[in-house]
Amino acid sequence: MSEIKILLMDGSKIELKKGATLYDAALKISPRLGKEALAGIVNGEKKDLNHLLKNNDKIEIITFDSPEGKEIFHHSSSHIMAQAVKELFPEAKFAIGPAIKDGFYYDFEINRPFTPEDLIAIENKMKDIVEKNLPFKKVEIKKQEAEKFFNEKDAVYKLELLKDIADDEVSLYQQGDFIDLCRGPHIPSTKKVKAFKLLSVAGAYWRGNEKNKMLQRIYGISFHKKSALEQYLKLKEEAKRRDHRKIGKELGLFSFHDEGVGFPFFHPKGMVLRNILEDYWKEEHKKDGYAEVRTPIMLNKSLWIQSGHWDHYKENMYFTKIDDEDYAIKPMNCPGGILVYKCGLHSYRDLPLRWGELGLVHRHELSGVLHGLFRVRCFTQDDAHIFMTPKHIKEEIEKVIDLTDRIYKTFGFEYRVELSTKPENAMGSDEIWEKATSSLEETLIKKKINYKINEGDGAFYGPKIDFHLEDCLGRNWQCGTIQIDFNMPEKFDLFYINKEGQKERPVMLHRTVLGSIERFIGILIENYAGAFPLWLAPVQVKLLPIADRHIKFGIKIAKLLEKYNVRVEFDKMNDKIGAKIRKAEMEKIPYMLIFGDKEIEKEIVAVRKRGKGDLGKVKLEKFIKGILKEIKEKALD
Ligand SMILES: [Zn+2]
Ligand SMILES: [Zn+2]
Repeated sequence: MSEIKILLMDGSKIELKKGATLYDAALKISPRLGKEALAGIVNGEKKDLNHLLKNNDKIEIITFDSPEGKEIFHHSSSHIMAQAVKELFPEAKFAIGPAIKDGFYYDFEINRPFTPEDLIAIENKMKDIVEKNLPFKKVEIKKQEAEKFFNEKDAVYKLELLKDIADDEVSLYQQGDFIDLCRGPHIPSTKKVKAFKLLSVAGAYWRGNEKNKMLQRIYGISFHKKSALEQYLKLKEEAKRRDHRKIGKELGLFSFHDEGVGFPFFHPKGMVLRNILEDYWKEEHKKDGYAEVRTPIMLNKSLWIQSGHWDHYKENMYFTKIDDEDYAIKPMNCPGGILVYKCGLHSYRDLPLRWGELGLVHRHELSGVLHGLFRVRCFTQDDAHIFMTPKHIKEEIEKVIDLTDRIYKTFGFEYRVELSTKPENAMGSDEIWEKATSSLEETLIKKKINYKINEGDGAFYGPKIDFHLEDCLGRNWQCGTIQIDFNMPEKFDLFYINKEGQKERPVMLHRTVLGSIERFIGILIENYAGAFPLWLAPVQVKLLPIADRHIKFGIKIAKLLEKYNVRVEFDKMNDKIGAKIRKAEMEKIPYMLIFGDKEIEKEIVAVRKRGKGDLGKVKLEKFIKGILKEIKEKALD
């Protein structure tokens, strides 16, 4: 019996009988991998498990644990859902059913929206299909034949999709009697889908174009084991409870209005939070030798042409006219900062210059993707540009990493780092890129920071480090970034005077720590579920007199607390004390001070702490001393 050699990713080899499939390979590697295998990569191409292997093929087995595995799994689940819909609604027409970041969807044309009852019926039908353990079979046919096939079924959307395929041959996938146009690969059979749930229905235009027909999109999620679905749904429920849009409204922090879609309005309490955040940001940056600049929101078209934004970023920009000249609302702060740099002559002795700018930028986002403070059309970038000599690069990167680390830790966030390297359309020589990338990498290594490399994902002007912080639900948010830029200094002819009295190009560093102040506030709200640490809380202490006659004493306490810059609110309503406490708890205020006849007589207060309840009675001075310490330390609770 002849054998074939198969290369594995770790460099090792296995031997298999001729005619062996990817599945056989997985099984040979380990029985467990055979059980978990969903598909594979053969010489760089994704294939089904029943793909026949050839001598010297290089393979990788895909399981649910990898992003590719999840994608194949979710995409296969969308086929199962489509099969169920076909059985229940034979009149439905099928559009597309891809995997998405979190699950899958399928778009159907049907004459009425799906109801929650429909979703349950579809889920039940899907259970039958899964139980039947139907294999996913790939059928490769001529494009013409496929056209004939879908024509007979009047599958208008599939016919449209076929038109876009340049190849002569196309593939169909079949499970049971359901056949779909699909590139694949798929999981071996329906029974791999151990747990799934249909989550919601939404209208979606065919190909995202509002001139086309509105289709019905069903979203779903699926997993390789039951417990994973349970965990997912629990997390989703918790995320819903923490939704910053809901909490922001309840706590009176911000709002959105039809009069400015995607433009947030900050309310008094939201501004308190925002100002604390910005003050803290300024303080930390001052410690690190940053100065601040502020540049205009609108600038002349000529500047944006010079910066390259006009050519590369126009789609996302807003425009206006002043005195018949074209202006753009800034989508980024860099060109403004560069004009400030160009105002004076800079000696090598003055560098590095670290200029921070809390700059309000506007970027056009499609209305469909807007999402509370997470995705808006205007936001404040906590930007800074560092102008320096090449000699400074490493030290400055290190300083920014330290600053970022310090700031994230203050909020209790862990984070991970990604390094993005030269993209295909990059500007500048390989040598410069090499140097810049290794500067970033060496600094990460020196600081013993683990990082993941994103090959080819850098900005067109330079490589970058991204910081992804992790919230208490384990969700990741890309916030900070450090980008090395050799390109802008070139485009704007920036220079400094070196030791020899000659002009030399500075290197520019673009960086943010929080990313967007608005988005960061959204993340903080969800992370703390609105229960901000004392130093951030818009209202820190609430005064709760037991009866009206105690209000006078309350005024005295309020004045004293305000003297120490403690943010106080006074509940003077004529409610029972229990009701007042419940209200303050709903408002997630860190401390409540309760006082009646006995307390006033002894000049003490009864203290309640959010989440901890009654802390007993203390002298007011002692309470103040305690919270001032907590505020100063920025304690997390
Ligand atoms: Zn498919
Ligand atoms: Zn910049």
